[in-house]
Amino acid sequence: MYQAADNRYEMMTYHRSGRSGLKLPAISLGLWHNFGGIDVLENGRAMLRRAFDLGITHFDLANNYGPPAGSAEETFGRVLREDLRPYRDEMIISTKAGYYMWPGPYGEWGSKKYLVSSLDQSLKRMGLEYVDIFYHHRPDPDTPLEETMAALDLIVRQGKALYVGLSNYRPEETREASRILKQLGTPAVIHQPNYSMMNRWIEEGLQDVLEKEGIGSIVFSPLEKGILTDRYLNGIAPDSRAAGPSVFLRPEDLNEERIAKVKQLNELASARGQKLSQMALAWVLRGGRVTSALIGASKVSQIEDAVGALANRSFTPEELRKIDEILGF
Ligand code: NDP
Repeated sequence: MYQAADNRYEMMTYHRSGRSGLKLPAISLGLWHNFGGIDVLENGRAMLRRAFDLGITHFDLANNYGPPAGSAEETFGRVLREDLRPYRDEMIISTKAGYYMWPGPYGEWGSKKYLVSSLDQSLKRMGLEYVDIFYHHRPDPDTPLEETMAALDLIVRQGKALYVGLSNYRPEETREASRILKQLGTPAVIHQPNYSMMNRWIEEGLQDVLEKEGIGSIVFSPLEKGILTDRYLNGIAPDSRAAGPSVFLRPEDLNEERIAKVKQLNELASARGQKLSQMALAWVLRGGRVTSALIGASKVSQIEDAVGALANRSFTPEELRKIDEILGF
């Protein structure tokens, strides 16, 4: 039987999400890849256990994670039932709805019908009475924002989620959604955008909106899906994401020019006494504007690497300048 490590709160730091009461670990674990029905259950179990032992209290899911869609929630539900159930109150579990889940007019986007049905399905798959955070996964150009936000507010009032969040909303959409949610009495506590050394769009407006509105941020793909690691320095390993069935990272994304930059970044990381993946995580957390870095992992050792990044989170102005220069910012 799994018994959590006694020292699990000793190596992690926790940051308050915006102006809410919710604290999140500096590193959170997402179950987008490697926890689906096609993956090895025991590897997923080992990663979840190790993460929790290292103080990672936050696990991020969505209705469509797998493949097949829904199966990551089932895997998580099983490991929760078999191993982690005694620790439920020490965990922040999130899920989302927004992308395609089932056929017909109610299986994606942002209607109240879809969001409520989808969360009910997610709760069943995970064997939970409530999630800690429920997100609208992407903006819906057709449904009035008032309806989508009212659905989030309803879900909280029904006790099916404690907090609500927005994902992939642009600065203006975020400002408007936040205004509506505040009026309803269920303020957004978190935003989930992508952000990495290579992808800096949130610095152009979104971070200012979040600060003003008191909303935290948990940034996804801080390792650029594996590019900002030592994974691809010497070609494409057969067990890597780029070699696998995922359409979200293809061998074409790893062109020579990109890898040459990654090699230079890797040298800079070594000079700091870090792995490149660790420098990439320290970079998104620098300056305290980001609440949590949301990583993915295919192996226990990658989770250990991520937590190890917290040992050196500061950068000299020269290091930051060099990173910008290598990446052309
Ligand atoms: P990352 O950028 O952290 O990439 C994770 C991948 O990087 C791993 O699967 C692994 O690839 C590789 N990796 C991780 N650590 C190491 C290491 N130490 N050394 C070498 N390689 C390493 O994030 P993801 O793209 O996986 O996204 C993270 C989470 O963000 C998702 O699980 C999900 O919860 C969330 N997300 C949210 C989205 C949204 O729209 N809201 C969209 C996308 C993600 P490999 O498998 O090759 O080993």
